[in-house]
Amino acid sequence: MSRRLEIAGSALERPLCNHCLGRLFASVSTGMSNRQRGAITRYLVSLPTQESGDCHICRGLFSEVPKFGRLVEKSSAPFEHSNFLVGSKVDPAVIEREEQLWADSSASESESIKGEMNREIGKVVEAALGKPVEFKNPDVVFIVDTMFDRVTADVTPLFFYGRYRKFSRELPQTRWPCRECRGKGCPRCNGVGRMYESSVQDMIGPILMRRAEGDEEYFHGMGREDIDALMLGNGRPFVAEVRRPQKRSIDIVAAEEEMNASAKGLVEVEGLRPSTRGEVRAIKSAACPKTYRVSVRFQGEFDHRKLNDIPRVLAEKPIRQLTPNRVAHRRADLERVRTVHRVEIEAVVGSEVVIVLEADSGTYIKELMHGDDGRTKPNVADIVGVPCEVIELDVISIGDKGA
Ligand SMILES: [Zn+2]
Ligand SMILES: [Zn+2]
Repeated sequence: MSRRLEIAGSALERPLCNHCLGRLFASVSTGMSNRQRGAITRYLVSLPTQESGDCHICRGLFSEVPKFGRLVEKSSAPFEHSNFLVGSKVDPAVIEREEQLWADSSASESESIKGEMNREIGKVVEAALGKPVEFKNPDVVFIVDTMFDRVTADVTPLFFYGRYRKFSRELPQTRWPCRECRGKGCPRCNGVGRMYESSVQDMIGPILMRRAEGDEEYFHGMGREDIDALMLGNGRPFVAEVRRPQKRSIDIVAAEEEMNASAKGLVEVEGLRPSTRGEVRAIKSAACPKTYRVSVRFQGEFDHRKLNDIPRVLAEKPIRQLTPNRVAHRRADLERVRTVHRVEIEAVVGSEVVIVLEADSGTYIKELMHGDDGRTKPNVADIVGVPCEVIELDVISIGDKGA
């Protein structure tokens, strides 16, 4: 106790309010506010000191807490939320004076003014809105700028997980801004600003964004297929993100129905449900095998018995792939090693062969077929001994564990 009185005596050499006095002992006794702590401390120090409104540290900032609470309440109005958190910006000069006081009085169990400010405003807002403060996953964080009496609402995005199938060979997964104008609109893109008229993203994100009354939407796929590849089977997992939603409780079943109705058979969505930022990270880093159906056309006569060599040479052996010629302009040239787990010849019609194979995530399948000028080894063209081209490539299953 005498140590505490020593610190208090030294601190009270300047005028302090009870908040700023109590904060010096924030972690000494719990179960009371800093203001109460300050009042008791002041009483225990038998110096004739009055609580000062002209506090050396905060200059009376805590008297403005009710006003800050009202500002938060006002800025919260547009956003549906069931909980919140308050953060604050405090004049750096205040923080400097506070740190100087800690040093001068050797206080070691103090709390920062921001911590107390956040909590005190939080209490006012909790009472006003009837909603709790949430530290871990708040729907919205209100940042109170105590210098300019401004509040900004940092609204947590909404996330939705689902799986999509794609039945078009002219549809990219995500919106693709025009290369020429980068989205502004130019003759090349007919003023649309995009390389393609639509995308899987366009059939999913805007519907969620409109329903949640958000500002922006983002699409996170678990990998992506080529534009001209169909996405079949169990569909590809994705998480759609809506930034700055004004509504958080949206009818997900109705949203999925709307997607499927408006995509007119080009895209199908299933299993839409609420998701999290953590799941975005999980699906972005997932490396699961995928099963493909590839149709290749050989350029010339070939010995059909050679087709039997394809599974034998490819399955469970290292496939070495240099960055394909078609993407070399945007990616560093490096070698990757992948494994094909299963290969089946599904059909042979003249010079056309349909192959079904399961391969590691990140395997370049077209290159595995034609060999990419020897940049992929081994490859189907070499095995058969005749050059070939890929006519169609579809993803028929994504080997994630499901969700
Ligand atoms: Zn103060
Ligand atoms: Zn353009």
